[in-house]
Amino acid sequence: MDFHATDGDKDSMEHYFFCPYCGEEISMVLDLSVRRQTYVEDCEVCCNPIEITYAVEDDNLSTFAAKVLE
Ligand SMILES: [Zn+2]
Repeated sequence: MDFHATDGDKDSMEHYFFCPYCGEEISMVLDLSVRRQTYVEDCEVCCNPIEITYAVEDDNLSTFAAKVLE
């Protein structure tokens, strides 16, 4: 079995997606120890508030959405 362990915390991962405001590709570190959560984080490029929603299944991201905050 060729398993490549990544260094650092297994319970978090960096996820890349496109900002719904400026369209730039940005990344955020997600906490995979939380099965499902919604929170607001500012875009690192345009500083607008993005509503992040995600769900985790078997240590993998099963759902991810980045929405414009109403
Ligand atoms: Zn942005």
